[in-house]
Amino acid sequence: MARVPKSLGQDGPDTLVITWNDGEVCRYNVRVLRLSCPCAECVDEWTGEDRLDPNSVPQTVRPVRIDQVGRYALNIVWSDGHSTGIYTFDSLADMCQRRQSPETSS
Ligand SMILES: [Zn+2]
Repeated sequence: MARVPKSLGQDGPDTLVITWNDGEVCRYNVRVLRLSCPCAECVDEWTGEDRLDPNSVPQTVRPVRIDQVGRYALNIVWSDGHSTGIYTFDSLADMCQRRQSPETSS
């Protein structure tokens, strides 16, 4: 079953909470999400290398707006002005799974 967020919320200023349509609840540290931004400005499209300097991202960074993109992703606008990151539901679900059940493989 394709996972889609059923609801989005925040638990304090630095935790994003996604409740998935299968009932699982995932919590994300917002700065970690910001640092995992997959856009071409933050990750080299060809080499996959990180271009984002973590020191350039304020400790207090937080999402100011979250929009759904089609049926597959979220676009997050950050308080540091960055807004080009598209986080697919797959990658978000993946980040959550890795934290909760590291052995899972498909
Ligand atoms: Zn980015």
